[in-house]
Amino acid sequence: MDTLRRPLIAGNWKMNLDHLQSIAFVQKLAWALKDANYQANEVEIGVFPPFTDLRSVQTLINADSLPFALGAQDLSMHDEGAHTGDISGAFLRALECEYVITGHSERRADHGETDEVVAAKTHAAIKHALVPIICVGESAEDLELHGASKVPCDQLRVVLASLAPTDTYVVAYEPIWAIGSGQAATSSQAQDVARALRDVIRELHGDSAADSTRILYGGSVKSGNIAGFMKKDDVDGALVGGASLSVEEFSAIARFPQHVTLDQEN
Ligand code: PEP
Repeated sequence: MDTLRRPLIAGNWKMNLDHLQSIAFVQKLAWALKDANYQANEVEIGVFPPFTDLRSVQTLINADSLPFALGAQDLSMHDEGAHTGDISGAFLRALECEYVITGHSERRADHGETDEVVAAKTHAAIKHALVPIICVGESAEDLELHGASKVPCDQLRVVLASLAPTDTYVVAYEPIWAIGSGQAATSSQAQDVARALRDVIRELHGDSAADSTRILYGGSVKSGNIAGFMKKDDVDGALVGGASLSVEEFSAIARFPQHVTLDQEN
């Protein structure tokens, strides 16, 4: 974690919580954070509900001035038109989404999204003034064959080629073998890949982009291991799946500065 980059803790709810459940959840999360003296200037919190919840969560965030950034889990590469079931980045922006996830491994696997599709979606996000969180990561097989950095760096190169050096984006390193498995990468593994990804940004988009872009780690993050990740120089936050569905866990993760000094290696 570099003090110039404000840490981001992003909760990817995946296909969980309907719009009524989402309201109750966000309210409880806000109360838990307030009770625990959460400092919004120290850590940014993002919530990424399913599309059908976005309007409800947006309304609640605005009505109660809650300290949460709103994001979506996917967007169309197209702006509008005959694309049944797709959601335009323009519609997300109209709902005051700030972020959108692109290239999540579950979309790559479930919907056959290639690096080129991910690049087109990421480009569309920028076009509609959304900050893309570009997910990259290797499978267990890739890890065995090529080591940890090669596949994520190759994936990132394709996406960055569709962006300008002045565009704002976030990168999430998410080893597929760590997602939902309970088996997180070690903080040193995450740091090594995050450093390699930052080098790719430096090579393609220059020093200013490399020094200002936030790189998150994702894959079985929980309150017990976040401190280890956040102590690393090139890890600027976390993309959290399963643990983002528990108010207690997610609020504890977002309050990592209170326990980041613990001597914790995972
Ligand atoms: C994810 O799907 O982005 C993720 C990191 O999931 P989990 O935290 O459950 O491993």
